[in-house]
Amino acid sequence: MKITSIPLININFNTPSSVTPAKTTAVFSKKLQPLKYDTVSFGAGRKERNYETALTNIPLLPCACCGRIVIPENVFDRPLLKNYDVPAYDVLRVLKKYEPRMQKTERAVFRRLEKLSKKYPDLNLHDLFIRKRYYHLANTEIKQLKVLSAIENIDLNISADSQEKLNKALKNARQIMFLEEKNVKGKRRRMIKEFAELMNSCPEKEEISKIVSIIQHLPSSSNDMDSFFVKYANADAETIAKKLLESAKASIEHVRASSESGADHASNFIVMCRKCNNDRGSIPYSEFIKENPAMVKNSQKYIDRVISYLNRKYIFGFENYPYQIQKQLFEETDGVINLDISKYRKPFVPPKISSQW
Ligand SMILES: [Zn+2]
Repeated sequence: MKITSIPLININFNTPSSVTPAKTTAVFSKKLQPLKYDTVSFGAGRKERNYETALTNIPLLPCACCGRIVIPENVFDRPLLKNYDVPAYDVLRVLKKYEPRMQKTERAVFRRLEKLSKKYPDLNLHDLFIRKRYYHLANTEIKQLKVLSAIENIDLNISADSQEKLNKALKNARQIMFLEEKNVKGKRRRMIKEFAELMNSCPEKEEISKIVSIIQHLPSSSNDMDSFFVKYANADAETIAKKLLESAKASIEHVRASSESGADHASNFIVMCRKCNNDRGSIPYSEFIKENPAMVKNSQKYIDRVISYLNRKYIFGFENYPYQIQKQLFEETDGVINLDISKYRKPFVPPKISSQW
């Protein structure tokens, strides 16, 4: 049977973001403790942190990639409510104004929660998740099974030896899915690993890569509503509320990745929502732009907003930002992104030699 005839689940599979670790964490961890959504560590990294947050705190800033307005870091870090032990409806009412900024999966979860909170008006957010846990777990398992059976049924031109390795990977994946405790974390990642390892152990790379691309379709909490409910089934109400907003949070994107010796400096920073930032990982811009052509117009929307802000307010260290980032994006995208910064009213300031920035 061909893969195309398998009724795979209809979700957005463009983003196997769980495969590559979130870039922001890796980048920040050099100088700071790993960035967590609700705990910000200052200390040794204070100067750099403040420097970066100047951009991520600009109000009404569009993500340079998807164009959605991001949630400024200082808004995100502020407690939304004093007490979360209230009916879910009261928490959702506070979150409502951020609904247009939420990404697809989070918005679907939010809307589902709105309906549930009317049906169960006494339950808090945590209890709503507990209540619906098994329903969403069953849905998730059905989707996982479909992906595994797609792999089982695909016709591959591989040796008996490779077929045996594939069968073993399938068996292990089933074991992870059905025999392990329901609350074990990282199952999806480990299931993907079972098949990704075949790329090393089998000589038929092209055939095996078909399997590797199918297994990415396993639902995850970032692209599937049911998986979101399962993943946060035991989370407290505050964590759930923050998770609904987290993918829309402003985050610093290094235009040239740190792994490619990109500078930890404003001249190399743009702001993206957390989701787009994770999606990019360290994919070179020349490739990323092909998959995300809207970035050409959205990065212009982004710089327009930054410029209108900088024209009115001075931010130390960002005097030359529009000039620098125009050049950096132009170079990294092979000229595909050529920002118009003609509205910027401040002259280029030659940097002092002794200055760190
Ligand atoms: Zn975005």
